[in-house]
Amino acid sequence: KDRIGRVGLVRSIRYAVERMRARSAEWASGMFHLAQQQFLKAAYIVELDDNVRQRLLFPERAQVAALSFRRDQHGQVETVFGYRVQHVLAMGPTKGGIRYHQGVDLGEVAALAMWMTWKCALMRLPFGGAKGGIRINPLDLSRTELQRLTRRYTLSFIDIIGPDMDIPAPDMGTNEQVMAWIMDTYSRRVGYTVPAVVTGKPVVLGGSQGRTEATGRGLMYCIVEAARHLGLDLRQCTAAVQGFGNVGAHTARFLEENGVKVIAVSDVSTAVHNPGGLDIDDLEAHVAKRRFLEGYPGGEHITNSELLELPCDILALAALQNQVTIDNVQRINCKILAEGANGPTTLEADEVLSEKGIFVLPDILANAGGVTVSYFEWVQGMQNFMWTLEEVNTRLHAIMTDAFRRTLTRAEREGTDMRTAALIEALDRVRQAELLRGLFP
Ligand code: GLU
Repeated sequence: KDRIGRVGLVRSIRYAVERMRARSAEWASGMFHLAQQQFLKAAYIVELDDNVRQRLLFPERAQVAALSFRRDQHGQVETVFGYRVQHVLAMGPTKGGIRYHQGVDLGEVAALAMWMTWKCALMRLPFGGAKGGIRINPLDLSRTELQRLTRRYTLSFIDIIGPDMDIPAPDMGTNEQVMAWIMDTYSRRVGYTVPAVVTGKPVVLGGSQGRTEATGRGLMYCIVEAARHLGLDLRQCTAAVQGFGNVGAHTARFLEENGVKVIAVSDVSTAVHNPGGLDIDDLEAHVAKRRFLEGYPGGEHITNSELLELPCDILALAALQNQVTIDNVQRINCKILAEGANGPTTLEADEVLSEKGIFVLPDILANAGGVTVSYFEWVQGMQNFMWTLEEVNTRLHAIMTDAFRRTLTRAEREGTDMRTAALIEALDRVRQAELLRGLFP
């Protein structure tokens, strides 16, 4: 398809979304419209059945709750908003993380839930997509406040979560401790321990070996495949990693282990650049002590936007959404763009990336290692049978490389970019399931 054709397609999709906006006020947000636009683009290319398209365009179920919890100071009660959105109920239980962030709203959670559907379908996991969130900055809370709020959240959504219904996991701002509290609250309510109600738990409570680093590991497996496809030798490559949380830090470490020179990393506080290569151990030791990269002595401090524009072979995005936009995409200067974050690239920026010949590893493929090992954890929980780390990593590698190859084959066959190819591959599976199950009642 030529450029005019593609630009025309983007325009007509945006037009359709504009018209829909009026009908979808509750979800309205830039991120939800991005998810819808990506979906509509893939649906258009595969000529998706109109009825199925209608059914997938919005989440099947969403709940909003006002969550009241007690602050430590003077026992004051505070109320914040919580969400859980389930996009597709036809694929099995729904699956997806819970995000604690001050910017969370229903539209963001709905977009993330939709992406979880495609992610699970692409990896051929027996789940539909879901996501949850609380609009709060977790760094403002003490440990006891975080525990009270998490238990309140669990109680508020207890009727729609469960090991056969909807299984939460960590996302931005949550971790294995938060999962432990959710599991405990749910278990106390039903009267017995239910490890499979969440994934990303501590190993001692039935968590899986390898879950913590799974997203970073999966991202690395994808980068290895992409480099092979492009004929790049990783030992000659440089990388910049945006984000130094669970995903970013593990990605940086795995890249270093593969011989890649990591020249820049960032977090909310700053970005550090060292053309001679950064030492990941040293960075982690600094963050363990000081919480943020701020003040790290081993490199020059630059801004997050400067990091994005550094010339490098691999740019790994492991922070927030909406990072590569029409405003900076012309200055992106890498060979492989690996999306560890969800939704870091806008639709318009995607078009430019293809024109520039940058190889994009789209989020629903690149960061799917996390939910894949979550699936392993859920299976282990349901069976009360634990796997070794080696089993986990071997199976993860097989699933990631298979999904990468299926996506690449689609992209080559349909003449599309990797994101559209991944979506088409996922859609195919969801479409079949929806049609086979039919519309009830
Ligand atoms: N929050 C992660 C994601 O966006 C993991 C979800 C899960 O493990 O269920 O993929």
